[in-house]
Amino acid sequence: MPGPVACDVLVVGFGCAGATAAIEAAEAGAEVVVLERASAPGGSSALSGGEIYLGGGTPVQEACGFRDSPAAMLAFLTAALGPHADAEKLRHYCEGSVEHFDWLVAHGVTFKPSLYDAPTWMPATDDGLMWLGENSWPFTDVADPAPRGHRGPVPYYAGKVLMDALVAAAAAAGVVTHTDTRATELVVEDGVVVGVRARRFGDDVEYRASRGVVLTTGGFVDNEQMLSEHAPALLGRGKVSDGLDDGSGIAMALEVGAATRRMHAHETALTYLPALAVRGLVVNGLGQRFVNEDTYPGIVSHRAVEAQPPPYWVVVDETAFEEVPERERWGVRPTHAAEDLDELGAELGMPDGALSATVAAYNRDAERGEDTWFHKDPRWLRPLRAPYAAIDVAAGFHPGDRDSGASGDGVAGFTLGGLHTTPDGEVLTWAGRPIPGLYAAGRSTSGIHGDGYISGTSLGDGTFFGRRAGRAAAGASR
Ligand SMILES: Cc1cc2nc3c(=O)[nH]c(=O)nc-3n(C[C@H](O)[C@H](O)[C@H](O)COP(=O)(O)OP(=O)(O)OC[C@H]3O[C@@H](n4cnc5c(N)ncnc54)[C@H](O)[C@@H]3O)c2cc1C
Repeated sequence: MPGPVACDVLVVGFGCAGATAAIEAAEAGAEVVVLERASAPGGSSALSGGEIYLGGGTPVQEACGFRDSPAAMLAFLTAALGPHADAEKLRHYCEGSVEHFDWLVAHGVTFKPSLYDAPTWMPATDDGLMWLGENSWPFTDVADPAPRGHRGPVPYYAGKVLMDALVAAAAAAGVVTHTDTRATELVVEDGVVVGVRARRFGDDVEYRASRGVVLTTGGFVDNEQMLSEHAPALLGRGKVSDGLDDGSGIAMALEVGAATRRMHAHETALTYLPALAVRGLVVNGLGQRFVNEDTYPGIVSHRAVEAQPPPYWVVVDETAFEEVPERERWGVRPTHAAEDLDELGAELGMPDGALSATVAAYNRDAERGEDTWFHKDPRWLRPLRAPYAAIDVAAGFHPGDRDSGASGDGVAGFTLGGLHTTPDGEVLTWAGRPIPGLYAAGRSTSGIHGDGYISGTSLGDGTFFGRRAGRAAAGASR
């Protein structure tokens, strides 16, 4: 076995959390090595939509004409990520958001100051700002709305440009990267985590860190055993991941006495097209509406999958379908069509008259410009007229040139629970004491999420608390 590799701070996993931890530690003067089991950095972060949840008055928000405050951001996130969101982490996250924006920009991340102004999973444009449910009910009752989804200047998936910038910034800060290197266990001496054992090109290698080890290995959606134990809602569902989210960092830390939190929490995405849904209805298998179609698509998905009888349908008329430009339809086509709603409802296997009753109530509200039950913004209200079409959400879609990766029922997700950490990334035991020398961030931890999810908060809390973990590790003395 080759001799140990020594450094000050060892980061395990080179996604967004690992990158930001490494940059901060290196800029604080530490010698930093990052281990990455894949052949290149990036992780799920590089495959992602690249939406980062930032607010409180960022320059991009201001350039687009929006006033925002940390208090409004906190009120929205508390409502949207709850119940049971981590209040202390949320407070830090919102209070530090403008500074975090500035830090990202100073490290090469770019955002175009223009707004994509419609509900979507991912804009087909290079706009740098998007709504993530802030302007939809019930959140409009909770806080003054401001869009906070910040993203790089490319259509669809912007995760690659984000990670390209962070990887370049890490290299510029002097961070050394060992790819094809999989950490397998933590090395503990006298109760202190002093390094890891790893497999590198078929060899066992030991890495020693004089100040701290930061675990940023991602979540566990690719580990069926862990899903069955902790987050069975995702069992058999599509994986929103790079395929390497096997929970290895969580498992390594558990071995040395770490505690976990909120292991059941997860993001859920349903392959329905928000651009069509907002112009029509989303209904459950009984033909009932259950949500305002203009809210963040993850909330529609979560509500459906957690509490509504499947299958799920988007119901539109010809005008709604034609209004959405072909390139923004993501390959979605009606799976059923009819002149008559009773006929359509029967074809969809709904109770007699259920769909007609739902559409009749919706049309009455639309004529008056007020959605009585779910308060969809009047901007999107229009009575639906024959001919009608229904889209089976499970039929899927192809954003950009990619497949959605959802399971047969149109559902995919990733895990939000993980190691119990302080806001500075110290990994805690079940007794609430820090494990000396061990830090973690990103989806290997439980971050700012309770039972809810808003896009951008995973790259958001991964980069935000990754930075804090890197700084804390670099500042630790032994
Ligand atoms: C298609 C898609 C779209 C998404 N869109 C968004 C979005 O727009 N906004 C948002 O906030 N989130 C989004 N997400 C979720 C988000 O990308 C992830 O939750 C986030 O990137 C996790 O960051 P991380 O740094 O914790 O983990 P990762 O980015 O996955 O990085 C973890 C790294 O650790 C490595 N690793 C794992 N185990 C080991 C080990 N034992 N030894 C060495 N290396 C190891 C992995 O190979 C990986 O490179 C999306 C995800 C996907 C897949």
